[in-house]
Amino acid sequence: MSSSSASSVAAKAVSTSGQYNSRYISKKMSSSPMMMEASAEEESHFALILGKPGGGKGTISGKILKDFPQFHHVSSGDLLRNHVRKETTLGIKAAQYMKEGKLVPDDLMVGLVMDESTQYLEKGESLLLDGFPRTVVQAKALSDSVHIDMVVNLDIPNETIVERLTDRWIHEPSGRIYSYAYKPPKVEGLDDETGEPLVQRHDDKPETVRARLEQYDESTSPLVQYYENNGVLKSFHGTQSDVIYPKVKSWLEKCFDHHQ
Ligand code: ATP
Ligand code: MG
Repeated sequence: MSSSSASSVAAKAVSTSGQYNSRYISKKMSSSPMMMEASAEEESHFALILGKPGGGKGTISGKILKDFPQFHHVSSGDLLRNHVRKETTLGIKAAQYMKEGKLVPDDLMVGLVMDESTQYLEKGESLLLDGFPRTVVQAKALSDSVHIDMVVNLDIPNETIVERLTDRWIHEPSGRIYSYAYKPPKVEGLDDETGEPLVQRHDDKPETVRARLEQYDESTSPLVQYYENNGVLKSFHGTQSDVIYPKVKSWLEKCFDHHQ
């Protein structure tokens, strides 16, 4: 984070053989007066958003992108859902894991996210990764290619997540979404327009939500320590994205100031 860590970061990057390290090093070293010619690449930053499933990663990412438009948003969940919708080979494989609230295997995920990110990394642009990495294996694979500058960790209580996810009901044929707390149907359990029954998404069912939270504790929560050890993580506690976000924003602004 601080400029004093730049040399150790550069040293680390030299010691690995990742494809993008040289670009990354030139970015960091450009802060030295001797290297001003590299300043065009000084702008790129890599941020991650970590947190439990249904903890509002998508919502907070959307707000970050509005205030920090230099970021490209890469959401592993959105990438996967695209593949599922198009019924690609990867989509068909992934769908089964997603339905059961399990993590999609690391090799598939690393390939998918790195393929998507390459176009931005090659241009020296900034990335906001949402939903990836979710395991230490994924984090290590990522660290071969990029140095992560900022990690926003959303720390949301489990009760809030279970309430929020199990409250969402959909009318499958139209995709209309209801929430008993925010947008209840006129008649309980029925679609407003057709009167047909509402259903829960497979991965929003209480037993699946619980499985996803357990999966998080087991596989993803070690990443909090991993990035804390790297000195790039900040945790934000709370139950509402609107309350949490202003704190996230001011932390990111501070990080950007330090990088200038
Ligand atoms: P949020 O609601 O906070 O955006 P989420 O966990 O509900 O988060 P996604 O991030 O969209 O939703 O992920 C949906 C599903 O896709 C996960 O339950 C998992 O099966 C799969 N998935 C997404 N990212 C990964 C990843 N990095 N590794 C393994 N599986 C993943
Ligand atoms: Mg998501």
